[in-house]
Amino acid sequence: MEQVDIAIIGGGPAGLAAALYSARARASTIVFEQGIPGGQIVTTDWVENYPGFPAGVSGQELGDLMTKQAEEFGAEIRSFTAITAIEPYDLDFKLTTGEGDEIIARAVILATGAVPKKLGVPGEAEFTGRGVSWCATCDGALFREKVVAVIGGGDAAVEEAMFLTKFASKVHLIHRRDELRATKCIQERCFANEKIEMQWSRTIKEIKGADGKVAGLELASTKGEPDVFLPLDGIFIFVGIDPATALAGELVELDEKGYIKIDHDGRTSWPGLYAAGDVTDSELKQVITAAAKGASAAFEALRFIDEKVCSI
Ligand code: NAP
Repeated sequence: MEQVDIAIIGGGPAGLAAALYSARARASTIVFEQGIPGGQIVTTDWVENYPGFPAGVSGQELGDLMTKQAEEFGAEIRSFTAITAIEPYDLDFKLTTGEGDEIIARAVILATGAVPKKLGVPGEAEFTGRGVSWCATCDGALFREKVVAVIGGGDAAVEEAMFLTKFASKVHLIHRRDELRATKCIQERCFANEKIEMQWSRTIKEIKGADGKVAGLELASTKGEPDVFLPLDGIFIFVGIDPATALAGELVELDEKGYIKIDHDGRTSWPGLYAAGDVTDSELKQVITAAAKGASAAFEALRFIDEKVCSI
């Protein structure tokens, strides 16, 4: 069976930073990534709050640079390889891939990230891919000179609404309250953008379609206003994220929201299993914190391996 010192599951900023630290310490390191490396940033148009890039950097480029740097130190990035099971195996861990291959790892870092939350309204599933999208970078160009809506009031919704104004003739930003959650400087730019029209205090009742594609949104009011129908060509949903813990949920302790509980150094409740990034209960969910926590998790995983060797 294939053996590795440190297996990292997930190739976003947390996993890639962990790989850089692990490989640079000369531990054999494999990053298992079910898609392409880079994580959520590769679907982000522009990252302007990662130090070292004063003018900002495209999410795709930042993901590519992180991948290249980890590889240059000897980490192997195994793209399109999903891990479907992790189990304790003697003093190590056995990982199983979707193809049924088995790998023995001496320590494991969980950096599986998070997945976009669903709204859970009628029409959402039916019109996904037919006008409903969770990725402005992927699908924005399909809506040139069209009218679209973005749902949500956090950093993701507001940044993606601004990105969509590059293509759409108008972007309705629909928020359930009368104040955005997004960082203030992002809000300021949003309010100055003439293509964005705020729809305050509105919730989504239904996504309506016609001829097999999105036709608009049935909106309710939280302020007692009558329901309205908003005609639209596209709908982008950014209402938060859910941690991707399907793999680890039975082995490690989760918090009440389902995030993996870690200590200051990235240890989970299971010795030898570490976690970093958006899948964990760390409050600040940014590229910089994911990378920093990835480095800490790798440092602790390396120490765990050394101590294991000394105790045998
Ligand atoms: P978020 O910060 O959790 O915001 C989710 C937004 O969706 C909130 O405004 C929330 O409304 C709204 N919402 C939630 N459920 C809803 C529902 N059922 N119907 C309508 N609206 C709903 O999520 P996010 O924007 O995806 O960001 C996730 C994390 O990544 C955050 O920590 C964020 O700071 C970070 N992030 C950072 C950047 C950056 O630094 N540039 C970019 C993207 C994301 P309420 O406000 O009323 O709760």
